[in-house]
Amino acid sequence: MKEINFKSVLKDLHLEEVNPGVCTGTEWKKTSGKFIESYSPSDGKLIARVQQCGVEDYHAVINTAKNAFKSWRMVPAPKRGEIVRQIGLELRKYKEPLGKLVSYEMGKIYQESLGEVQEMIDICDFAVGQSRQLYGFTMHSERAKHRMYDQYHPLGIVGVVSAFNFPVAVWAWNAMIALVAGDVVVWKPSSKVYLCAVAVHKIVGKVLKENKVPEGVLNLVAADSKMLGDTMFSDKNIPLVSFTGSTNIGKKVGRLVGERLGRSILELGGNNAIIVTPNADMEMTLRAAVFGAVGTCGQRCTSTRRIILHESVYDEFKQKLVAIYRKLPIGHALDENTLLGPLVDKRAVQDFQNAIERVKQQGGKIITGGDVLEGAGFEAGTFVKPCIAEVENNYEIVQEETFAPLLYLIKYNTLEEAIQIHNDVPQGLSSALFSTNMLETETFLSHEGSDCGIANINIGTSGAEIGGAFGGEKDTGGGRESGSDAWKAYMRRQTNTINFSTDLPLAQGIEFTL
Ligand code: NAD
Repeated sequence: MKEINFKSVLKDLHLEEVNPGVCTGTEWKKTSGKFIESYSPSDGKLIARVQQCGVEDYHAVINTAKNAFKSWRMVPAPKRGEIVRQIGLELRKYKEPLGKLVSYEMGKIYQESLGEVQEMIDICDFAVGQSRQLYGFTMHSERAKHRMYDQYHPLGIVGVVSAFNFPVAVWAWNAMIALVAGDVVVWKPSSKVYLCAVAVHKIVGKVLKENKVPEGVLNLVAADSKMLGDTMFSDKNIPLVSFTGSTNIGKKVGRLVGERLGRSILELGGNNAIIVTPNADMEMTLRAAVFGAVGTCGQRCTSTRRIILHESVYDEFKQKLVAIYRKLPIGHALDENTLLGPLVDKRAVQDFQNAIERVKQQGGKIITGGDVLEGAGFEAGTFVKPCIAEVENNYEIVQEETFAPLLYLIKYNTLEEAIQIHNDVPQGLSSALFSTNMLETETFLSHEGSDCGIANINIGTSGAEIGGAFGGEKDTGGGRESGSDAWKAYMRRQTNTINFSTDLPLAQGIEFTL
């Protein structure tokens, strides 16, 4: 691989060696927080620094956002959509450098990073159309000369707290829909990927300024989560918190926001499985399984964690899968030959190794991988050999989400048993069944089939399109964002009844004569 001159990428993205971590869309603010250094998980080199947001800075941003909301909500939705359209155009111009930064700072391979920026562009396009379709229903009234309808109003400040593994797309999923809905956004990104968030705000800031969008519509607070987390989740100024992250932290978010009767969209951990029946196309299933399990080095919420195989295809599938795993090119995320990049940091490597130890202790058998790579090209200490283990579904470790390339193989005999195993985990995000038999595929999608928010046929568990509503059930949190009618969560619904008669008939025929 050629030596990377990352300075030129930083320059293209208007990033400095030291960057402020607070932005109100059109203005960058001096901050009072600590400096955080961002290192690449691919080569361990320092990329740049960000000065974090302090508590006082946060309150100032919230005040600015509250003021901005007063005027932004009155801008007609299609005009708000026009701003989003221009953001989409600007993102197209920056697709390559932003993709490189996502790769270099987070560690996913360049192709996946380009895909992530493409997702931002796609959601912009989607949101532009949505801006003309923020519709409600009209109902017939039981009373003569009365009209009833429901309409959707903007909510206010949407707090977006995002996970490290999708450093730019998760914000876009939320922010672009919130923007057309007439809301304003305050984004707290993961401290592991601050530079991506700063770069995004540099890109969108230009569009906001050119269009004279008021200060405070799209805000960034790169803040220490321990310092800001509780303050933000308990803040009554934020009617909606959209949180993407682990189930543990998500439960705390749900509690804190719930205590003040705020709303939350919770997008939490998954434990996603593919069922492979005797009627599956083996080659197609293998490709989907490998991409699902090792894509983003097993750090997608939709990563394939379990493969539930019919006993008649178990041995053949295992053999072929192991052969592919042993040949996977592992390396720098920006090297175009790499299919498996690094884990995000050394702590993630430690978690991976601990999980493998627990698999062994609980009776599982490691059939390939699990080692930490050393030597030339792997100096950062973040590269691992992807691991496959044979397990039982009820092991404690199998019931948990290990955010790394650790894949479990589980055997089944009847489809009923496969679905029972499939659903028997606390999480409920993404699921898949590979089969060309319609009886099997329809059973999987029926009421007695997959209990997940996403259920696919002959498609792996990862790689959702933005047109559908994204999210999961059970410990995954129940939130939905992105496409379909997910926009409704970003607005408040109001039922209106209008009387155009000269009488005052009461509903349910109640007589009340004065
Ligand atoms: P995380 O829970 O550690 O962090 C998520 C966000 O919460 C980050 O911004 C972080 O700074 C903040 N945070 C961390 N500790 C906090 C605290 N004590 N108080 C307040 N905020 C806190 O998750 P992560 O490691 O960044 O991401 C991985 C997890 O996210 C996985 O479980 C993955 O499945 C999940 N995820 C889910 C989805 C989804 O859509 N369902 C998408 C991406 C990631």
